Amino acid sequence: MGDFDGQVAWVTGGASGIGAATARWLADRGARVGVLDIDIDQSASMIEKLGLAAEQCDVADEAGLHRALDALQASLGAPQILVNAAGVSYAGRVAGHDIAGWRRVLDINLTGPFLTTRYALGGMIERGYGRIVNITSGNAMRPTTGSAAYGCSKAALQTLTKAVAHEGAKHGVTCNAVSPGTVDTPMARAFVKPPQKLEDLVKGKAFFNPMGALLQPDDIARMVVFLCHPDSRYITGQTQYVNAGGVMP
Ligand code: NAD
Repeated sequence: MGDFDGQVAWVTGGASGIGAATARWLADRGARVGVLDIDIDQSASMIEKLGLAAEQCDVADEAGLHRALDALQASLGAPQILVNAAGVSYAGRVAGHDIAGWRRVLDINLTGPFLTTRYALGGMIERGYGRIVNITSGNAMRPTTGSAAYGCSKAALQTLTKAVAHEGAKHGVTCNAVSPGTVDTPMARAFVKPPQKLEDLVKGKAFFNPMGALLQPDDIARMVVFLCHPDSRYITGQTQYVNAGGVMP
């Protein structure tokens, strides 16, 4: 028997990193998991091994996302759990920032979670139960040079989290955010040059990491799963920081 037996969970960005770890943790505990990702192939073996449902889509493309969500709903049923982990980072200073890059980051990191939540929330409210978790970032609280688009997208996602928490509050629906520190995923490795220096960089001051720790996707998935648990019913509208002490709001 698993804690999530009989529950359906949808995880965006579920084919890599934090999203994939979350999908695995929820499936291991009994949930029927549907993964939404722009690149499903990268995790084809995990998806097959765990028997997950999977739909390829761009969370920023409203029509394509709706088709993917309709397909998941048809195959798995409506979700009790929605985890928005799909995201992209972006390096660009405001002076000279390209508008396409700005819009793309906001579209994926903010509008994507808005669209999935808009799709799932009404049903959760009607059924009187739901758990929504959004993956944000320490950049929301402490942006650095070149992270304006990313930081703004994540700060706004924390605000969306609170707004949805209010809408769900009387209906058994919670909505929370998890803000990770530096996690060893393809995104973090791609952002840091050369990639093999990530372990060293988290020990330096620029990464705001008092423990000097490079987190693993499982470290974040544990917190997501905790927030998705039925017993976490009075935790809502919060951002939980799993960051080795990096941001202390
Ligand atoms: P990752 O690159 O391993 O995973 C991100 C996933 O999102 C990938 O599978 C990718 O294909 C998918 N994705 C990207 N754009 C998409 C789109 N338009 N539509 C659908 N899927 C899309 O990175 P990760 O580190 O696991 O990131 C997960 C979340 O954690 C992101 O929201 C990221 O901003 C956040 N985060 C990561 C770190 C870190 O250090 N890794 C720190 C703070 C926050």
